[in-house]
Amino acid sequence: MARLSFCLMLLRLWFGCVECCRGDHPEKPEQLAPAVEGLSLSDARRAIVDDSLDPYFSRLHRLEIAALTGRPVVKGVSLLESRDEARSRFCDAALGISRSEQESLQWLVEGVVKRISSSFPLFARQPWRFVKVKSNHCGGFPHTRGFVIFLNEGIIRRIVALKQKQDFSAAENAFGTLLFHEQMHVLQRIYPDVFRSLYEKEFRLVHASVEEHDWIAERRIVNPDATQMNWIVPSRTPGRAYGMVTLLREDRDVPRMGADFYDVAVELQGEKGVYHVVADDEGVPITHEPFAVPEIRERFSTPRGVDHPNEHAAYRFEQLLRRRYFRDYDEKPGDDSLDGSLQRFDQWCRAHLIAAVAMPAAPADESSAKEIEERRQ
Ligand SMILES: [Zn+2]
Repeated sequence: MARLSFCLMLLRLWFGCVECCRGDHPEKPEQLAPAVEGLSLSDARRAIVDDSLDPYFSRLHRLEIAALTGRPVVKGVSLLESRDEARSRFCDAALGISRSEQESLQWLVEGVVKRISSSFPLFARQPWRFVKVKSNHCGGFPHTRGFVIFLNEGIIRRIVALKQKQDFSAAENAFGTLLFHEQMHVLQRIYPDVFRSLYEKEFRLVHASVEEHDWIAERRIVNPDATQMNWIVPSRTPGRAYGMVTLLREDRDVPRMGADFYDVAVELQGEKGVYHVVADDEGVPITHEPFAVPEIRERFSTPRGVDHPNEHAAYRFEQLLRRRYFRDYDEKPGDDSLDGSLQRFDQWCRAHLIAAVAMPAAPADESSAKEIEERRQ
């Protein structure tokens, strides 16, 4: 059932893109209703360990497995065995979405998408897929992997309760921008070439390949929404650059999600898009507090999400929605002015979040859709 509807959603998305490529945009504001799907327990268990679109488990290390799952890893086993243990713990955290939860998610997504679909119709065209997880999984942080948004059971319970009270305004206020933040990550994964223009031209970053560094790999926490250090900030010193990474404090066996995170800017050296980490004589990377670096500060208008442009763009989109599109709970009611960089970001979003000109993850026909889905099993 879920597999069939997923194929249909992909086909619908593909035809939507074909229509866009022909330039057949309707002149009237878009009134498409988004497809919303809550995954069953068996589909959720498959989705939570599905590494096919963006390798994740193969990059995890012991400290972050402990943080993500709230328990130390078993001592004396290999890293590969620890990663298998992580897959098993993740599987145990997946839950199935009930009919009433599905209806509540649909109610909220349809309502919030209607608010902005005339400006950003891609949010109506792109299917929304949800997995429910236990409240302590990944510290309860909403996140995405593949085409799926992972929400903890506490958030979904609150959405159901608000639907029962028919209090859409409270639901939108509490979760509206969060949902767009997460779906933005899904779009980034499907349309990397579209977002590349934002990262290069607006954020002025450089796409690069950075060699893995063991010291960092053992202490970082991989952001599932931005798994690679692949966008770097050029330094004023030729051949040098900065890469951002989030590290875990090491004074606990089980670091706390969020509370024990800290972002650093790592010094890089290289050329022609290939860089390596600069380390001291003991092999410890040379790092800085990110916003203390002028080259970083002048590119990002806020320190939120500087660890990766995927994250920064998602936070900026939330900020944009609150300032311009969801005005009834605006941070500054009545203030229609946007600062220059947020205005340029708004223009970029209006120009690009319509429907992409290329759809690399889309199937050309039903058999391709089946093939993609089979690879996901
Ligand atoms: Zn995010």
